[in-house]
Amino acid sequence: MIIAVDGPAGAGKGSLCAALQEHFGFAKLDTGLLYRAVGLTVLRGGDDPEDPVAAEIVARALQPDALDDPALRSDEAGQAASKVGAIPGVRAALLDFQRDFANNPPDGAKGAILDGRDIGTAVCPEAQVKLFLTASLEIRAKRRYKELQSRGHEAIYARVFDDMKMRDERDQGRSDAPMKTADDAFLLDTSDLDIPGVFQAALKFIKSKTT
Ligand code: C5P
Repeated sequence: MIIAVDGPAGAGKGSLCAALQEHFGFAKLDTGLLYRAVGLTVLRGGDDPEDPVAAEIVARALQPDALDDPALRSDEAGQAASKVGAIPGVRAALLDFQRDFANNPPDGAKGAILDGRDIGTAVCPEAQVKLFLTASLEIRAKRRYKELQSRGHEAIYARVFDDMKMRDERDQGRSDAPMKTADDAFLLDTSDLDIPGVFQAALKFIKSKTT
């Protein structure tokens, strides 16, 4: 079984996927990390994440151990990720890895959970379960701001808000695999829900699709 979880930053995808992984024992892939690793590697190499040639070379050479770097969680990596994510050659280079993970989940897991922007529409359009999480920009920015603070990072709310808005616009506006809700996805607005509430709503939908 493949569970696709898409939506913008701060909508609650990460927490939901962790809860689903615990519940079902499936393998989980945070596909944003792939784009973050490409973006950060391009920056560290002194190149521009908007340079399609440099970014595609990095994407084609990406190794799975690059996904363990804690620096990938920074907003700098998030912005670079959304720039390299707009380059079709980068998306194409990362596609096989994601599809292979979904169809042959590691460690004999009986299913895969993929979290991203285009899983239900482009990476795994055949997924049995598609969820699209969303929440207002203000709420998502507040969640991200609190998360940064709790990890000891200095953060300015207005900056977090503006960065998120910019990233949303880039992710929705790109021509290749833009972030959008798949026709057969369950659209869940998490603005007024806590993590257990999101999990219960998702579980109900999953049950309706699988029993
Ligand atoms: O999910 P996360 O915030 O880590 O993603 C970082 C960026 O990577 C997103 O803003 C988006 O531009 C890009 N991305 C993507 N497709 C995915 C996952 C992430 O374009 N499947």
